[in-house]
Amino acid sequence: MKYRLLLLLPLMLSCADTPVPGPPGFPEGTLVDLTYAFDSTTIFWPTANGFELSVDARGRQEAGYWYEANSFSTAEHGGTHLDAPVHFSEGQWTTDAIPLTRLIGPAVVVDVSEAALANRDYLVSVADFERWESEHGLLPDGVIVLVRTGYGAFWPDREQYMGTAERGPDAIQLLHFPGIAPEAASWLATERTINAIGIDTPSIDTGQSQLYEAHQNLFAANIPAFENVANLDRLPASGATVIALPMKITGGSGGPLRIVAVVPDM
Ligand SMILES: [Zn+2]
Repeated sequence: MKYRLLLLLPLMLSCADTPVPGPPGFPEGTLVDLTYAFDSTTIFWPTANGFELSVDARGRQEAGYWYEANSFSTAEHGGTHLDAPVHFSEGQWTTDAIPLTRLIGPAVVVDVSEAALANRDYLVSVADFERWESEHGLLPDGVIVLVRTGYGAFWPDREQYMGTAERGPDAIQLLHFPGIAPEAASWLATERTINAIGIDTPSIDTGQSQLYEAHQNLFAANIPAFENVANLDRLPASGATVIALPMKITGGSGGPLRIVAVVPDM
């Protein structure tokens, strides 16, 4: 969809032959939704409660109008969501404290799907990021780095996606999915200047991680993370713009995330 055209349509209708500039700095292209819907099938961590929606009202009211309203409850860390740096780093940003400038901007996709689909415990390495850089140049300052493992293709099949469909604390040891190696997370945090990281798995750490060092190393540098990101196969290696807006929870350690990309038309 050409969103710019839609935005301008009312103006174009009112003054058909006057060119109207678009909003300054807003990229042109096709909008891609990188978000999974929240419902009873949405994948959460084995120890977390899932998303629940309850109907408060749904029906024709006595006065004649239709009225629907629901309540929902959800763990912060499930479905497509934000990890605030405070999730694994004491004193760092909570969800509401993350500046918008860290959540909106140019994005790159580092595709490791070939290796990751061949090995459920694959660790994304510094070499993977350097391979991207050898083709596209250094990771630009302020970029949002999205890691594509290919596991998004398995959503919403829990067993395929994360290695087990079991729930509860004993299921944690059964988790098998790729993640970012501790050294690679540390390299991103110290050798490059990135705004945020994202991945198409339940966690930036691999399923077999014990210490969650990718979280620790990136969050120590106040770099937020996006997890269970959808549709990364629809983004180019560079050139997209990402807008990632979490629910603004005061003191939150994360939260449900609506993340979209603008992909330039070729
Ligand atoms: Zn999380």
